[in-house]
Amino acid sequence: MLRHNLQFIERLLSEKAPLEERAYFSKINNEICRFKIRKMSASALKFTFLGTGTSQGVPIIGCDCTVCTSTDSRDQRLRTSGMVSFGNKNIVIDTGPDFRQQMLRAQIDDVVAILFTHDHNDHTAGLDDIRPINFKHQRSMPLYSTPSVQKSLMRRFAYALGENPYPGAPRLTFETISEQKNFEVEGLEIQPIKVWHGEHLPILGFRFKGLTYITDCKTIDSDELGKIKGTHTLVLNALHHHPHYSHLNLTEALELIEIIAPKQAFLTHISHNMGRYEDVQKILPQNVSLAYDNLCLMIPDEV
Ligand SMILES: [Zn+2]
Ligand SMILES: [Zn+2]
Ligand SMILES: [Zn+2]
Repeated sequence: MLRHNLQFIERLLSEKAPLEERAYFSKINNEICRFKIRKMSASALKFTFLGTGTSQGVPIIGCDCTVCTSTDSRDQRLRTSGMVSFGNKNIVIDTGPDFRQQMLRAQIDDVVAILFTHDHNDHTAGLDDIRPINFKHQRSMPLYSTPSVQKSLMRRFAYALGENPYPGAPRLTFETISEQKNFEVEGLEIQPIKVWHGEHLPILGFRFKGLTYITDCKTIDSDELGKIKGTHTLVLNALHHHPHYSHLNLTEALELIEIIAPKQAFLTHISHNMGRYEDVQKILPQNVSLAYDNLCLMIPDEV
């Protein structure tokens, strides 16, 4: 009976049912994922959008626009972060200011690694809240990042990463990565992708088998685009409708999605100026969706 209901709900979600029904059923989407992950092979991937908002989050403090005052939960966005799960292991991408709330909301009590796309505050400010995981599992947290992000983290979290860590500070270990070399976390191969966050700041996106996760991107060089080819699911940032010096806007993101041609694409790092979920979703191409917080996706084994 339970299985029958889950299949019914899953079909409603996938067939783009009326928006009110999708809003209702999105609340139990996580339950469906939990059910499906038990059936899938240990190597299958689940991806959870922990946060999908731009640096101020949505709603913005003091803003009374139609998005910030919307009662649709899909318009309420914590700062951008994602989680890849396989077997019973979770890898988190970026620890923004909402990291603690995101772990509690998704009911996560263990993370095996953190990957950093870049060092901006909306992607790193929550790192201190890794402590309960340190304490519970009695191990240090590996941080996968470039040398320049490591330098920045050492400045931002000097009390934990300096020479004399403060007692009780988070226990963190650096793992150096670059776009030139794939790396493994707990047996999962990860391919870093260099993307440009504006003209002068190279940052990383990541490919995990059929899933590619890119945020805070403005442009991608053609040789790096080759790494993304054939991806089943693409997560890509789209800020709003106007030009921005360091982020793709909606038009630019849709152009890039057309070039990459994934089976499905989800937009993240969204500003309140993008508009309400319900309105924007209607104008997107068939294989593109606005992501929303807590949405989770199953990524097929085969690409
Ligand atoms: Zn607003
Ligand atoms: Zn940024
Ligand atoms: Zn950002």
